[in-house]
Amino acid sequence: MSKMKAIMKREPKMGAELVTVDIPEPSDSEVLVKVIATSICGTDAHIYKWDKWSQSRIKTPMVFGHEFAGEVVKVGKNVKGIKAGDFISAESHIPCGHCKVCKNGQMHICTNLKILGVDTQGCFAEYAVIPEICAWKNNKDMPPHIAAIQEPLGNAVYTALSTDITGRSMAIFGDGPAGLFSTGVANVGGASRIFLLGTYEFNLNIGKRMGATETINVFKETDYVRKIIEATDGDGVDVVLEMSGAEKAIQDGFRVLRKGGTFVAFGIPSDEIRLNFAETLIFKGANIIGINGREMFRTWIKMKELLDSKKLNPEPVITHQIPFDKFRDGFELMLDTQDHKAAKIVMKL
Ligand SMILES: [Zn+2]
Ligand SMILES: [Zn+2]
Repeated sequence: MSKMKAIMKREPKMGAELVTVDIPEPSDSEVLVKVIATSICGTDAHIYKWDKWSQSRIKTPMVFGHEFAGEVVKVGKNVKGIKAGDFISAESHIPCGHCKVCKNGQMHICTNLKILGVDTQGCFAEYAVIPEICAWKNNKDMPPHIAAIQEPLGNAVYTALSTDITGRSMAIFGDGPAGLFSTGVANVGGASRIFLLGTYEFNLNIGKRMGATETINVFKETDYVRKIIEATDGDGVDVVLEMSGAEKAIQDGFRVLRKGGTFVAFGIPSDEIRLNFAETLIFKGANIIGINGREMFRTWIKMKELLDSKKLNPEPVITHQIPFDKFRDGFELMLDTQDHKAAKIVMKL
């Protein structure tokens, strides 16, 4: 038994294939994990679709995927904190551990950062190898579909709790999993009002279940900027979480932000964006926080507390659990913009 099934991007074109490849060997500082559940990220959908970004970043052939949980089956000889039998989730940001940024306690944005399943062989497979530093130990009783989505949920924990939100009004732009998870975290964090803005009725309804006080379909209610400003006594919201990466959302995010408010940027625009620097930033006295990944491991510690205590329930965002072999159905659900009926999709092995 030295072979495994894996979802591979074999050629530089649309799609992916189920193939049989060698089970990877962990190095001295790595662990080999039997994948139990893995979820599809927007990044994976980009790779599947083979868009401009993937064409410039991904080298085929490669096994992709970076969100997963599984059981450790083998550890390298220098691994100290993880042992065979541990139930772990993966942190997808692989730091070097030696650069100034790592030494400054910011491993998640390491100068020499590698991303699992983008720069290295990923987890859409029966087995995956990760460095010990990226293995996060879970309670054994955590359901695999919840354990698998901690990487994207961690983005939301980091984003929503990056500034003081208790008793503050918020606008969250983007109704994909990142926006929906953030809504749940913001709600648990004590935000007084949460305006969730998105484009899909299906997702906005999940947002209501996650704690949004008001949902806005930006295609239907096009004067939402005025509406939010009026609803906040003419001031605008205290905090904006930008989870979409859309240029218009970023611009409008600053429009609905009150003077002296905080804009938290997570969504990645596909191109350069236009902003009036003086109006949006200087005269507004705005604070801006950029978010990439999860703080290693402050975010994971907070997330563990929120999940173990059952204060945070990410369940409504996980709309599908499908068998690994049916991965094409998963990608099609994600890429369907006409009849969009999916948020987070988990594949089970
Ligand atoms: Zn992801
Ligand atoms: Zn580093």
